[in-house]
Amino acid sequence: MDFEEATFNISSSLAMKIHSDGDYCVPTITLCGLQKLTLSLQKWKQLTKDSNSILLAIDGINEESFGYESEWCLGGNFYVTIHRSIQETSHLSAIVDIRKRTKIHGKIIDSDEGILLTYSEFRQLMKLTSIVEKLIPELVNLRPCWEGDDHYNQLGALMCPECNPYEYMNWLEYR
Ligand SMILES: [Zn+2]
Repeated sequence: MDFEEATFNISSSLAMKIHSDGDYCVPTITLCGLQKLTLSLQKWKQLTKDSNSILLAIDGINEESFGYESEWCLGGNFYVTIHRSIQETSHLSAIVDIRKRTKIHGKIIDSDEGILLTYSEFRQLMKLTSIVEKLIPELVNLRPCWEGDDHYNQLGALMCPECNPYEYMNWLEYR
């Protein structure tokens, strides 16, 4: 990545920032609205892969929405869900919720780390997919960690911060 930061305005209340984070200069993507949410490249890639399925599910709200997926996992306990009000049947009123879940007393619940996007914000954001891939070329061939050789055995996945974010530290000593 040969730039420090790039910002795209998605709407009057939402921007996307691409920036190099930390000592390793790994690019990350941050959505800045009322809340802020930073996505790793792997999670962004998964979001763009799932975007058609997410949009299809939202468009299907008007019709028979039975049979559409309603939850997508981006890895690392980040999930995409769709909120819709029962009174409002237009797909334009649907809200895309991208949120990390957390484990409290053995129960998995939604955390405060997340962002809500309107239907049109989500559409606009996903239109930037190819522009983002031009800025971060490694995205094009990025394969999710769970397709990697080290994940063939269960121990590899247990040691992975992406796949086992709460307990991977406990497994590192088995390496
Ligand atoms: Zn993994």
